[in-house]
Amino acid sequence: MIGAGYVGLVTGAALAELGHEIFIVDIDEEKINALNNGQLPIYEPHLKELILRNRERIHFSCDVGQVITDSTIILIAVGTPSKVDGSTNMTAYEAILKTIAAHATNYKIICVKSTVPMGTHDFTIDYLKRNDYHSFDVVSNPEFLREGSAINDFFHVNPIVLGSRSCSAIAGIKQLYDPLIQSNEIPCIETDGSTAEVIKYSWNSFAAIRIGFVNELARVCTKIDADVFQVVKGMSLNETLLPTSQLKPGPGFGGSCLPKDIESFIQQTDEIGVHLNILKGVALSNQLHKRWVMQLISSALDNNLSDKTVALLGLSYKPNTDDIRRSPAIDIIEGCLRQKIKVRAYDPQAMKNMKTLFPSIYYATSVNDALLNADIVLILTDWDEIKQLDLVQVKKLLRNNI
Ligand code: NAD
Repeated sequence: MIGAGYVGLVTGAALAELGHEIFIVDIDEEKINALNNGQLPIYEPHLKELILRNRERIHFSCDVGQVITDSTIILIAVGTPSKVDGSTNMTAYEAILKTIAAHATNYKIICVKSTVPMGTHDFTIDYLKRNDYHSFDVVSNPEFLREGSAINDFFHVNPIVLGSRSCSAIAGIKQLYDPLIQSNEIPCIETDGSTAEVIKYSWNSFAAIRIGFVNELARVCTKIDADVFQVVKGMSLNETLLPTSQLKPGPGFGGSCLPKDIESFIQQTDEIGVHLNILKGVALSNQLHKRWVMQLISSALDNNLSDKTVALLGLSYKPNTDDIRRSPAIDIIEGCLRQKIKVRAYDPQAMKNMKTLFPSIYYATSVNDALLNADIVLILTDWDEIKQLDLVQVKKLLRNNI
């Protein structure tokens, strides 16, 4: 498993649980040292227990080349972040192909879990051949885990999508997941590489459309004093509209996947002359939605913002993760600081990561500490600890009642 991030660690540990011997490698020495010392570099519920339970089958290493030489199956789970123009930065992915070409000596199945642009499957085959490595097959096996519930998703929810030109390579990867496939709980689709790549982008695009739409409904309901939660309940009465699981209004969608993947999909499809106008609308709507949250703060405080204090509860882009990548909380903190609003922030897991971006705001030791003498409280992430707050107590701690 190349890449010891959210996907590499979760999938690596889960594959060990299925009985496989797995080497998880990363170029980040600090990360690998921490893992070898029993510390997790990320927060994901139940991951630590899973790693500990399978410790004798999981090996952490920085020696990427050696592990490539020794392995029969190479799973690629390196990051594919956005470039400034929204397209995908493939630097880490291409670096890995270079390392594979340099260190692979015998036949390997190269299984791509990273989210990569359409055409990467064929590019990978061409690249390796051009670099004098010929004895391999490529399988596109996009990852669908959701941070915060990733372990449960692996064993009970996520479909297995396998795209390849080689039936025997697909069979090889199916063996990895065999207990899940045999359980009949997890669907498995076999297809070609390009189709597998599009399946991944369409999942995230459709999720973004649903979330973007319900956030727009929230803006309408706020304007006319209607109840968006009742509206969603009403929608759920129509079975053809189900599932409504992502119809939860919030401060805009974020995270390491949705915004970057829809931007990349828009950019890729523009390049081939197929313009995804609905998705472009969703990307714009999400930007406007985060600004709308700032407008709500401003109007709630009668546009009198300087020296006001806001308590932000929840910093991660969703509950049960420490991941703050593209979290709406970032836009809101930036907005507050621009308006000279003081910020008192609290999150059960994500404060350490947020401190690297905003070292100078106040990080509270508890929810109550964050609320103390704040003029306004914003609940940005629905962690259980935050959802269960007694709002009567909250009111007592706030200076204002907003
Ligand atoms: P991450 O940033 O948490 O981890 C990536 C890891 O790859 C890092 O630890 C980095 O040091 C390592 N790496 C980079 N270059 C390397 C190299 N040359 N050799 C070895 N290691 C290298 O990323 P992530 O969130 O795990 O995402 C990985 C991929 O999976 C991305 O393409 C992402 O879009 C996709 N994905 C992520 C999620 C999610 O929820 N995080 C879900 C589905 C798909």
